[in-house]
Amino acid sequence: MMPKDAPTECELTVIGCGLSGMAAALFAAQKGISTVQVGVNGGLIFASGYLDLLGIHPMETGKTWSEPWAGIAELTYDWPEHPYARLKKKTIRTAFEKVVSFLGENGLSYREAGNQNSEVMTPLGTIRNTYYVPETMWEGVRALKEKRPCLIIGFEELVDFSAAQIAGTLKEKWPRLRWQNVRLSEITWAGPAVSGDILARDMEMPGNLEKLANSIRPHTGDAEVIGIPAVLGMERSQEVVSKLSLALGVRVFEIPTMPLSVPGLRMNAVFSQGLSDAGVELFFPERISSWKQESDGTFILGLGKGAASRQIRTEGVILASGRFWAKGLRADRDGIRETLFDLPVHQPRDREAWHHQQFLDLQGHPANRAGLSIDDQFRPLDLTGKPAFEKLFAAGSILAHQDWIRMKCGSGLAISSAYATVTAFSNMRGK
Ligand SMILES: Cc1cc2nc3c(=O)[nH]c(=O)nc-3n(C[C@H](O)[C@H](O)[C@H](O)COP(=O)(O)OP(=O)(O)OC[C@H]3O[C@@H](n4cnc5c(N)ncnc54)[C@H](O)[C@@H]3O)c2cc1C
Repeated sequence: MMPKDAPTECELTVIGCGLSGMAAALFAAQKGISTVQVGVNGGLIFASGYLDLLGIHPMETGKTWSEPWAGIAELTYDWPEHPYARLKKKTIRTAFEKVVSFLGENGLSYREAGNQNSEVMTPLGTIRNTYYVPETMWEGVRALKEKRPCLIIGFEELVDFSAAQIAGTLKEKWPRLRWQNVRLSEITWAGPAVSGDILARDMEMPGNLEKLANSIRPHTGDAEVIGIPAVLGMERSQEVVSKLSLALGVRVFEIPTMPLSVPGLRMNAVFSQGLSDAGVELFFPERISSWKQESDGTFILGLGKGAASRQIRTEGVILASGRFWAKGLRADRDGIRETLFDLPVHQPRDREAWHHQQFLDLQGHPANRAGLSIDDQFRPLDLTGKPAFEKLFAAGSILAHQDWIRMKCGSGLAISSAYATVTAFSNMRGK
């Protein structure tokens, strides 16, 4: 059925609302480009809140970097096809700073340790590197570095966060780390199991924070800092952490939980609201299901079904549609495909070569480096090695020649490639 309404007109359409799509829409709006964004929740809602730049290279040796900029220099020398190799250090830095300052202006401040990576705790109690740390987690970075007397609080009803496991895993390195569970039923109406997002909103309800402080206070002991699962507020997390610190007389910090992640949900909400306020027209949750190109190069994109279907008429497109989970890529018996434009996907020659024998093989799996090959303008290439379309760009985890999970470069790659695509589009238009 053809859509009844006239198409939505815009200069640029961003396909995807993971971190790369959000960042691309933000950069486009900041440049005054009329922008439409379409997508269903991306990986952002599962992300820890830490913003990685580069943690590991080479993957084979698992070498970690406290100086990520030096790591990127070595990576781009060793691996010239990695998307970072197409970007200047200044571009990556500018892109990251723009996103972090946007988040800060909207109540989600971040810190970094003077151009260095910081060691942070994972929900499992392991330690890893990251670059930007949410303000609400920063005290944990200091406490871990100085091994200060610390208490980790768990909630009996928040079953996918184990304070005991974190303390157990870290006890050799951090002898003055203790843990204690408290019951949420004394604080909110929580049943036998509660999810982090519900709890986070509960923490902003009048009276609940005082009750939480009262239940933690008897266990404080010699603790100089207290770590709590990252459920301390949805919209006012920094305020909640400050108030709880004040009530306990001890600095409090958040520790990421397993997905679904409240810090990820906070970021998702801040982007959605901020982009809408900046004039980006959002079609969430929607998917682009069809496309065609007019003789002047304009794209007509189709979304929705039946009577609710509609069209977008757009000069440029940024494809930030992610990998397999987000359905930007699909794997079938014949190979790995890009699902919307059927763009060529860089991939191993046959399925046998997709994975190594060992799941945890340090080299990573070749299938995880499959994706779109691009030119210096971040335009996907066709089979002849030329840009598939003049104004179709690609950003984020759909790009080939990277393994963001193992290299710990997810956010840096998503944000800097998004910046590159918007810059390329805007340069083409002289805007
Ligand atoms: C569990 C988890 C934990 C993470 N933790 C961290 C972390 O600690 N540090 C860090 O730096 N990064 C982390 N990340 C990674 C980061 O948040 C980004 O998810 C990642 O870099 C990839 O983002 P992306 O935008 O490229 O893709 P995705 O987040 O996968 O988003 C793809 C988007 O494209 C949309 N899409 C696909 N096809 C269509 C279509 N046809 N029409 C419209 N929309 C479409 C999807 O709906 C989705 O919105 C984590 C991610 C996950 C999943």
